[in-house]
Amino acid sequence: MVDSPNAIDDARFRAGSLLVIVAPSGAGKTSLVRALITQRPSIQLSISFTTRQPRPGEVDGVDYFFVSHDEFERRRAAGEFLESAEVHGNLYATSKAWLDSQMSAGNDVLLEIDYQGAEQVKAIFPQAVGIFIAPPSLQVLRERLIKRAQDSQAVIARRLHAASQEMAQVPNFEYVIINQDFASALGQLLHVVDASSLRYFNQRARFPELFASWEAVRAS
Ligand code: 5GP
Repeated sequence: MVDSPNAIDDARFRAGSLLVIVAPSGAGKTSLVRALITQRPSIQLSISFTTRQPRPGEVDGVDYFFVSHDEFERRRAAGEFLESAEVHGNLYATSKAWLDSQMSAGNDVLLEIDYQGAEQVKAIFPQAVGIFIAPPSLQVLRERLIKRAQDSQAVIARRLHAASQEMAQVPNFEYVIINQDFASALGQLLHVVDASSLRYFNQRARFPELFASWEAVRAS
């Protein structure tokens, strides 16, 4: 609810949605996000900073900004990150300046981050839309990680252990998509994204004069 006239300047009254997507690795998040962006190309995907080594095929500045531990810590100390977290032994963070510029421009923004980061983002932007993508079972997750063949056995074991902890975070999310079948999961993700963009404060930012005319009636 709007409880003061100044609330109109509140960050919530921006036309874009801040979408935060969290999933254990292997839940199919990356493919779903790629397909989502193909269908909704106006969504801006944040490129995170990480200390992780690039996987084969990953490109610096496209998949991540791959930085050394020292550079990461220097940027973190300089307050450049909106959120940061250690995930599977590596550091990850979202650029604050990038997010500010996208949100100020009214763009839809998508953060593909872990649950610790999501919690930090929610504390700063309560209007963020938390979407959790879950695998249908831990067994399916194990099979997907093995099939992906991008990580060593030890890394897979660590990721599976982390997945059960990550699943425990599900109550903190507004939306939960169980990725049993890619096409249905994508359909559900599109519904969530489209519905989120029609929330009161997004619409108010898009149509300020219309909303002002209604508010004038209410105030008279
Ligand atoms: P991966 O190394 O497999 O690309 O990602 C590992 C985990 O780190 C995933 O859960 C991913 O969502 C998360 N992650 C990626 N970027 C960020 C970020 O900027 N912040 C946080 N907190 N987690 C991130």
